[in-house]
Amino acid sequence: MSVATVSYEDALQRYEPVFGLETHVELGTRTKMFCGCVQAFGAEPNSHTCPVCLGLPGSLPVVNRLAIEYAIRIGLALNAAIASWCRFARKNYFYPDMPKNFQISQYDEPLCTDGYLDVLVGGRTVRVGIERVHLEEDTGKSLHIGGATGRIQGAEYSLVDYNRAGIPLVEIVTKPVPGTGYGAPEVAKAYVTELRDMLRTLDVSDVRMEEGSLRCDVNTSLSVRGSGVWGTRTETKNVNSLRSVERAVRSEIERQAAVLDAGDRVIQETRHFHEDSGVTTSGRSKEEAQDYRYFPEPDLVPVAPPPEWVAEIQASLPELPSARRARLLAAWSLSDLEFEALRNAGALDVVEETVAAGASPADARKWWLGELARRANDSGVDVSELPITPEAVARVAELVASGSLNDQLARQVIDGVLEGEGTPDEVVAAHGLAVVSDDSALLAAIDEAIAANPDVAARIRDGKVQAAGVLVGAVMKATRGKADAARVRELIMQRLAS
Ligand SMILES: [Zn+2]
Repeated sequence: MSVATVSYEDALQRYEPVFGLETHVELGTRTKMFCGCVQAFGAEPNSHTCPVCLGLPGSLPVVNRLAIEYAIRIGLALNAAIASWCRFARKNYFYPDMPKNFQISQYDEPLCTDGYLDVLVGGRTVRVGIERVHLEEDTGKSLHIGGATGRIQGAEYSLVDYNRAGIPLVEIVTKPVPGTGYGAPEVAKAYVTELRDMLRTLDVSDVRMEEGSLRCDVNTSLSVRGSGVWGTRTETKNVNSLRSVERAVRSEIERQAAVLDAGDRVIQETRHFHEDSGVTTSGRSKEEAQDYRYFPEPDLVPVAPPPEWVAEIQASLPELPSARRARLLAAWSLSDLEFEALRNAGALDVVEETVAAGASPADARKWWLGELARRANDSGVDVSELPITPEAVARVAELVASGSLNDQLARQVIDGVLEGEGTPDEVVAAHGLAVVSDDSALLAAIDEAIAANPDVAARIRDGKVQAAGVLVGAVMKATRGKADAARVRELIMQRLAS
């Protein structure tokens, strides 16, 4: 069934979106959640399995202490309360890539509850409430062979790889986020971005969305503006890029608005997001908690982290992105929007290192967000991947500040460094790229330019000073761009005034 959609702008006229996110994060522990098997992405299928993670009869799980510690780190960083006592629960369902036919998860006793994450978006801060953070194990992976799409439909047969089964997962569930209106898709994306940066800073996961170590399910609902009644939500599964988070929320808003406009009701269900078309399609109707027949996991003892241990973990937390933001905003005198531009360009680290190497914050930002961002964009890489160090950029900025280079020459120096010709000083020496600061050398070139353009010189003498640009251009050309244009103009005016 195809459903007409309404435009995003139209939908927002009549409806208020509410979204929420459930994010699964594979923890970067060396071994799995309940056994000693080593985690290895991309390894030979089924080469990292044992009786425990294959769910063989008689095998018993043992909790990975480091996974508990990582989950507590995440909970503390999200300002959540850490349970002094909690249990794992069995979540019963059948899935071919889940060897035990149940998943060990947490249900009504999560490890962390009631936190928040502040998200900077469009120059304002939105506080996203965190409902819970709990631990569970990942499933295996099914591979469907012989079909055109890689999906089960049309496949000749399927294979299962249990290497992923039992990898520790943390699920981070937000509270519903109302009140973001038109910006809802953008706020959802900004939340995942902030969460990813935070997890990376905590060093608990490699947070690679493209490899599935960070996966999002996006809940979306609409309420009729002014009604105060929240609508039925849908859950869009496994949205696997930051851009897709934004698109999935947007597409659900448009689809649900059309359903409601037609007088139908939104069905509570899971939906699948399609990268290619940017729309969601119906999956299965959503299970209720009771369908999973949760009960406390009888093979594991409760988890009771001692308060001293939690305090120790708290004390060991690194500077989190929100604290870093506050520090840099003040130190560099930036606006929220300027900070966002740096962060969105992936240039925070390199700019900070360039400032540490001696450049002014303004110079560091100018080079990384300008010239270097352009080069990175041309080569299809992140700025931080360019073959130039923050120290080299700081040195280029210093050479410009001291007058040894002008911006045009500095760009040539950067070219040389990017092409592997050495440090900025080596490139300057090899190509003779210093600004000609010797006035006598400049005056010789100026006299030549005046002699070659007598009519221009006459106009300047008559007071048409804007004509000086022609002479400045001629001198810059004669010195192959190595002159300080402002100084050249000054000398020309002096010459013609005498
Ligand atoms: Zn195992």
